[in-house]
Amino acid sequence: MAGIQLKNVSKRWGNFVGVDNFDLTIADREFLVLLGPSGCGKTTTMRMIAGLEDVTEGQIIIGDRVVNGLEPKDRDIAMVFQSYGLYPNMNVYENIRFPLKVRKVDPATHDDRVMRAADMVELRDFLHRKPAELSGGQRQRVALARAIVREPNVFLMDEPLSNLDAKLRVSTRAQIKNLQHELQVTTIYVTHDQIEAMTLADRVVVMKHGVIQQVGTPTQIYDRPANTFVAGFIGSPAMNLMEGHLQGGVFTGDHVRISGLPGPDGPITLGFRAEDASVARTDGETEITAPVYTMELLGDATMITVKARGSMVSVKAGKEYRIEIDETVGLHIPAAICHLFHHETGVRLD
Ligand code: ATP
Repeated sequence: MAGIQLKNVSKRWGNFVGVDNFDLTIADREFLVLLGPSGCGKTTTMRMIAGLEDVTEGQIIIGDRVVNGLEPKDRDIAMVFQSYGLYPNMNVYENIRFPLKVRKVDPATHDDRVMRAADMVELRDFLHRKPAELSGGQRQRVALARAIVREPNVFLMDEPLSNLDAKLRVSTRAQIKNLQHELQVTTIYVTHDQIEAMTLADRVVVMKHGVIQQVGTPTQIYDRPANTFVAGFIGSPAMNLMEGHLQGGVFTGDHVRISGLPGPDGPITLGFRAEDASVARTDGETEITAPVYTMELLGDATMITVKARGSMVSVKAGKEYRIEIDETVGLHIPAAICHLFHHETGVRLD
């Protein structure tokens, strides 16, 4: 078993900085998710840990070994990628066994280990099929079994679910979570899907332009985003963000007036989550009064979006709630649910 340390790790190609001063300790057995938009440096970070990419600066330590100079095969890591990387001419059994052959593991143990891995991902009935005869989800499970069979110190998974359809993504996600819990192997998982990150991770690292924006448990990241980037990236829908002015504890913006806020006078960015606010039937004492832009039925709730001039603001109402487009609605946004951010840097203020 092994923890991982990245000490001020950077990756540059010429003047371009792919990963900037990444500094993080990952605990033994932790499930860490790297989350961020396309191009933010997630895969590069992963590839540096795997040894597929040189580190320009900094140190990578796995267990108690500095691995900067080690070949990928000597790092005791198993990887699962979005493209399954299966051998088309081998059947499922042979694909799963392959890493054991390459590593010259005692052949007497192969059958046992392959069967155990196949059982874990429920593939026992498919052992004689070739990859072409499998569904996408089954292929991904073969790739998982091939990682499991090695009993590595670390799993690295790069968007392993992105080729699966929505339903299969959810069930395979649950399977990965359960497997990691059972195997207790330190896992680093890359995704740009915030729901995947929130459901799988012990801790999430949110990245942008190669720079860590926030590290925390899913709850910490959701409840106290460190800046407007994280606030706007996490949650479905993402946090509502509005520009305005704070004066004597009263925030005013387009169609908005919220009082009782702590914070310095001056321009400010205010945020709140759709599920923390509510719609009011009458527009007496509401903080936003604006025409409805759209109403979406979510099954367990109704999402009302209003257009407060520049900003779209979404609020979750009860599942029975109905309103027409363009009808005026009052939204209740108590000060206690609001998050305040610096209007220029976007950094959280409290
Ligand atoms: P995605 O979700 O799209 O896979 P990512 O967050 O994994 O994105 P990376 O693949 O790590 O992003 O890339 C980070 C940045 O580094 C990108 O801007 C990319 O264009 C750049 N990059 C990656 N590999 C190279 C390379 N070999 N030479 C120059 N720039 C590169």
